[in-house]
Amino acid sequence: MRINAVEKKYNHQEVLKGIDLMVTSGERIVVMGPSGSGKTTLLRLIAGLERPDSGEIHMFDKIVSQPGKVMSPYKRQIGMVFQNATLWPFMSVEKNILFPMHKNEIKTQQNHIGALLDHLDIRRLLHTRPSDLSGGEAKRVAIARALVSNPKILLLDEPLTHLDRHSKEKITEAIDAFIIKNKSTLIYVTHDESEAKQLANSKYIIEDGFLIHENDI
Ligand code: ADP
Ligand code: MG
Repeated sequence: MRINAVEKKYNHQEVLKGIDLMVTSGERIVVMGPSGSGKTTLLRLIAGLERPDSGEIHMFDKIVSQPGKVMSPYKRQIGMVFQNATLWPFMSVEKNILFPMHKNEIKTQQNHIGALLDHLDIRRLLHTRPSDLSGGEAKRVAIARALVSNPKILLLDEPLTHLDRHSKEKITEAIDAFIIKNKSTLIYVTHDESEAKQLANSKYIIEDGFLIHENDI
């Protein structure tokens, strides 16, 4: 994926002033920066949930975002889990996870689905309703839902904040195994240096609207 000179304003507030980034398959980057610096906005632009005011985003040799035209999030090979990730309340955990998949896909992907349920320790929750899950369990289900369709680019917005240790460990292991197997790109937002070290191999910060490569981890 390549981001070229992307700018984003809300009303008159220039949040992102010129973002350039190039990431390849299997690469894992962490994006840090103070609250309000534009980290979530950057992920939303990559997902296709926001339109840039200028610049372009390229994925797999296609322009997917430019000021006049944005390819829908569903057509991009992305998986995302946002800070306030919500599950569909009237569907069981199983339905929540398998909802994006076709019947045939569910059959051919049995091993992948099974591995996710085990890595995330949610197999015993399949018939539970979201309202009966703890915060950590709900987040693990949201991660499974994001990984089930084998996204090429994975966008995670502070996925471990306020979670119990068991959930943190399970999510970290599942993401690590998934990226190694699938050679996906990870773009990970966190405030926590030690989480960053566990999952990412290079660190960027957003400072005054620009994305700066700080160091390799
Ligand atoms: P971060 O994730 O780094 O905390 P955000 O990307 O959420 O920052 O927000 C960056 C800035 O953009 C903040 O000042 C925020 O208030 C503003 N902002 C974000 N989304 C909107 C929106 N939809 N409308 C207006 N302002 C917004
Ligand atoms: Mg944010």
